[in-house]
Amino acid sequence: MESSKIDDAVKQQFGDYLRSNKLRSTPERHAILNAIYTMEGSFDIETLLSHLEKNDKFHVSRATVYNTIALLINANLVIHHQFPGESRYEKCFGRELGYTICTNCNKVTEIKNIRIKEDISNNIKKFNLTHYSLYVYGLCSKCTRTAKRRKQKSRQ
Ligand SMILES: [Zn+2]
Repeated sequence: MESSKIDDAVKQQFGDYLRSNKLRSTPERHAILNAIYTMEGSFDIETLLSHLEKNDKFHVSRATVYNTIALLINANLVIHHQFPGESRYEKCFGRELGYTICTNCNKVTEIKNIRIKEDISNNIKKFNLTHYSLYVYGLCSKCTRTAKRRKQKSRQ
């Protein structure tokens, strides 16, 4: 996806947010928004920094990136995931996000094509749902196998 093809609604939401908070609309802020909306899945700050440098040939300081991400979170355009031992970020405009988190090995896996917006909307009346992020905790397949094996051994 071309960075110029970023959804107009996303651009507008950020523009509105900056204006209503009397913040400047800088090329850096827009470059960071563009980079985030061209990236698939969640990312950490290092990945975003290298994406900006390599793909967009844009040099921004780490401080500017952190600063802008904080603004994008407040503008409801980016979500912060606090995964076990790791901070990650992701574009969230109009999106349905879901992750499984293994309570044993901390493995995080994205749930692809999660579609429960309708279920949620049907259950909560008078609430205009825009986006969500769902965290599902349990045992991953590897840890489930290990747990089963351990159980069988203890029976012998
Ligand atoms: Zn596991």
